Amino acid sequence: MNRYWTDLAGELTPYVPGEQPRIADLVKLNTNESPYGPSPLALEAVRAAASEALRLYPDPEAGELRETLAAYHGVDKSQIFVGNGSDEVLAHTFAGLLNHDLPLLFPDITYSFYPVYAKLFGVAHETVALDAAMRIGIADYRRPAGAIILANPNAPTGIVLSLSDIASLIDDHPDIPVVVDEAYVDFGGESALALLAGRPNLLIIRTMSKSRALAGLRVGYAIGDSGLIEALTRVKDSFNSYPLGRPAQAGATASVRDDAFFRAGVEKVVRGRQAMTEGLIALGFEVLPSSANFVFARHTDLSGADWAKALRARAVLVRHFGKPRISDYLRITVGTETEIGRLLDACRDILHNR
Ligand code: PMP
Repeated sequence: MNRYWTDLAGELTPYVPGEQPRIADLVKLNTNESPYGPSPLALEAVRAAASEALRLYPDPEAGELRETLAAYHGVDKSQIFVGNGSDEVLAHTFAGLLNHDLPLLFPDITYSFYPVYAKLFGVAHETVALDAAMRIGIADYRRPAGAIILANPNAPTGIVLSLSDIASLIDDHPDIPVVVDEAYVDFGGESALALLAGRPNLLIIRTMSKSRALAGLRVGYAIGDSGLIEALTRVKDSFNSYPLGRPAQAGATASVRDDAFFRAGVEKVVRGRQAMTEGLIALGFEVLPSSANFVFARHTDLSGADWAKALRARAVLVRHFGKPRISDYLRITVGTETEIGRLLDACRDILHNR
C-alpha cells in the first residue's frame, strides 16, 4: 500500500544507536559514555537552571556557552557553533555545507551516522576504503571531491591520524569543506585546532558526551572560520532557534570552566584503556591501537556476533556491527576498574565454556 507518509520515511535507513536496556547490575560498555559522572559544578549549574526561569525560552545564541568555549579554545566567539549533541551539529553540517555536485568522501569504516545523514539530505557520497591495518590513507583522498568528513580518532577503530596528515589532507583540498569530527580527540588525538589559522575550509566538530561525561545533556559544538559558522547558524535558525535548553547551556558552560575535573576524568579513562587493552591481549584478543575511550578488538575463537551474545548473557553490553570488514570485531567502551574486571572475567568464562 502506498501511503503518502511512507514515501520519504520508507526510503530512509536510520542510524541505530547502542541500546539503553534496563538490566540489573549491567556493565554497559556499548555506547562510549563516560564511566564517571560529570563535573559537580556542571550538576550544580543544571540544578540551578531548573528554576522558575524555565518558563522563559533560553538564549537562542547560547552566548555565554559560546564565549566560554571560545576562550577555552583560544578562538573568537564567531568561530563557535553549538547544537543539541554533535549529531545535530553534524546534521546541519551535512545539510548546509557538504552537499555539492562532486561527492562527499568519507572512510568505508567510520561513524555510521555519516551515510545516514548523506542519504537523508541527498548528499552524493563515496566511501574510501581504510587500508588493511584499518588506517585512513590520506593519499587515497586525492581525487575529485565536493567535501570530506573524517572522524579523528576514527570510530569504531579508535585509530588516530597525525596532525601532519590532517594538514596535508586540508592542503590537498583548499577549496572544499573538510570536516574533522573530534568526538574522541581528548583521549589521545591531536586536535586540528592548531591548523585553523589560514584554513577557512576546516570545520572541527566536538561533543560533550564523551570526555565531559554529559551524554544525557546533549551538547555538541563546531569550531571553524566564522564564514562556515555563519552558514551553520543560518541552517540552525531555519530548523530550531533553541536547540539547547537553559539547563544544557548552564551545565555545559560550567563543565568547560572545571578544567581540573575534566583532565582528571580523561586521565582515568586513558589508564583504564591501558588496563583493558592489556587484559584483552592476555586473553588472546587482537586489539587495534586506540586513542579513544573504547577499543576495537577481535578474537579468533569466536565471531563478533557470538562474543557480543555471550557477553550479553553475562550482563556485559558491548557494541557489535554486523558489517563487512568489521563483523569479527567488538567495540568495547572503557569502563571503571570494576567494570573492566567484570568484562575480563566474563571473557575468561566464555573462553572456558566454549
Ligand atoms: N561523532 C562520533 C564519531 C561519535 O561516535 C558520536 C557518538 N555516537 C557522535 C559524533 C555523536 O555524539 P553526540 O551526538 O552525543 O554529541
